[in-house]
Amino acid sequence: MGVKNEGPPVVLNYEEYESIRLSDFELLGQVDASKVMDVSRPTFARIYESARRKIAQALVNGSPIIFEGGKVYFNSDWYACKSCGCLFDHPQKDQEITGCALCGSSEIEQFQGKRESS
Ligand SMILES: [Zn+2]
Repeated sequence: MGVKNEGPPVVLNYEEYESIRLSDFELLGQVDASKVMDVSRPTFARIYESARRKIAQALVNGSPIIFEGGKVYFNSDWYACKSCGCLFDHPQKDQEITGCALCGSSEIEQFQGKRESS
């Protein structure tokens, strides 16, 4: 592999990134991962398939992978769990959120969509 990127960039959106992170990094099953992302299991499977395909293309073509920060998602209320590090959103805005959707920890904070702090 050279330093030169040959293929066109592959853009992963936030959902795709999250599906890969939950499945292949956190090693969650699809049922748990779909719950964390608050999507149905078939929807999760579709997002995950798309993400895997893009990553495969990037590997084979030597394309850079660009992570697009999910404008849609970051406009809604996302929470970050300090305990397990997952992100989850808050579909029922009238309901107070009490804990992590994944591990149940109450150590959560609202996620602002900015990862680098200055
Ligand atoms: Zn958690």
